[in-house]
Amino acid sequence: MELCNLKDPAERASFATAVRRGIGHGQGLFFFTRPLEPIPGLDGLLDMPFVPRSQRILRHLIGDEIPSLEDMVADAFSFGAPPVVPADDHIHALELFHGPTLAFKDFGARFMARALGAIRGDAPLTILTATSGDTGAAVAAAFYGQPGIEVVILYPRGKISALQEKLMSTLGGNIHAVSVEGTFDQCQDLVKASFDDQELREAVGLNSANSINISRLLAQVTYYFEAAAQLRDSGRRLLFSVPCGNFGDLTAGLIARALGLNARFAIACNANDTVPRYLRTGRFEPRPTVATLSNAMDISRPNNWPRVEALAKLQGWSLGEFACGSLSDDETRAAMRSLYQKTGYVLEPHAAIAWSVLAQHRRDDEEGVFLGTAHPAKFKSVVDATLGIDLPLPGALASRAALEGQALPMQPDFAALRQLLLSLRG
Ligand SMILES: *Cc1c(COP(=O)(O)O)cnc(C)c1O
Repeated sequence: MELCNLKDPAERASFATAVRRGIGHGQGLFFFTRPLEPIPGLDGLLDMPFVPRSQRILRHLIGDEIPSLEDMVADAFSFGAPPVVPADDHIHALELFHGPTLAFKDFGARFMARALGAIRGDAPLTILTATSGDTGAAVAAAFYGQPGIEVVILYPRGKISALQEKLMSTLGGNIHAVSVEGTFDQCQDLVKASFDDQELREAVGLNSANSINISRLLAQVTYYFEAAAQLRDSGRRLLFSVPCGNFGDLTAGLIARALGLNARFAIACNANDTVPRYLRTGRFEPRPTVATLSNAMDISRPNNWPRVEALAKLQGWSLGEFACGSLSDDETRAAMRSLYQKTGYVLEPHAAIAWSVLAQHRRDDEEGVFLGTAHPAKFKSVVDATLGIDLPLPGALASRAALEGQALPMQPDFAALRQLLLSLRG
């Protein structure tokens, strides 16, 4: 697989290099250099079960670089195929929230953990990340028990939900949750200071495992094919509605389309609507980020957008082909109530936005699929208050919530963090 830095096309990278480096010079993203070819034998591919099909797709994209790729995919996706569930007339939910942390980020994070494990050889590897909530839980679960990899997750004490804290601090083993006496920004400053310390970076093999890593995107391509396989009998073209934050999920869907999937795409945003406004006006004008109910989409400078534009250009697509919409919090609550009253399907805020944009834009000859990116129980207070129900916590969450956490307390002090990182490499 040959990738290049979108800001500096002279910087080329193999899959392994791009996974190891994460981001290129000048903060440029690694991405494809040539148009993607349709994957051979698409019909037969849709007949295959999820894991063997995903192995074929990722082998097609990545090439021969990683001999153990098939084992990595089987292990990363061991929690099974995401179900496609009817939710409305000719509209289905692709439920991506049945993995270990009940969010779609499990797919990308688990694949990345195994890719990094295979690529690092004998070199030390320490994942260091700051979280204000969900990503930390997915990263912790994904890397838990991976041999030779230590994971340090910083979070601001008292500023994340009790459940989110439990998901990171109850694993133990190679997962080190650090509760920082400070703000999220101070946690991020500590991470930055660590990456700026070249001696430390090399000594412990620092990697941020963040969401711009190409391995995450590629893993996510596979579930669009799974939706197409489960909806094959409809014989219709699909319209996918994607709730967008950093636009990683949308990029993955477009890669699936470039590989031959017969589908159209809708971009669904909350009040942080930089891209919908851009597609309407032609002006890319981010505004200050505002807090909404769908907080994983509270992003006004989506970091994967350059990849969307690059892929459209490579494949000769017009950005005008996207269906597009954005919802306020009031509209989000109204959408949650509307579908619940109509069919009984329970939406959390992110999926509610995707369903609403889908229902507005679906053409009569299309089968609609919206991405269920998180389990409704992860947004229990909003869901309960909006729908007047008492949603039970799924068993996996309930049993983790009952465990005692073992986070390490720390002042926002770089020397203390540095010492911790070095001590893990004893
Ligand atoms: C991360 C996230 C999103 C946004 O995904 P992107 O790939 O960043 O666009 C949407 N919904 C939920 C629940 C998320 O956690």
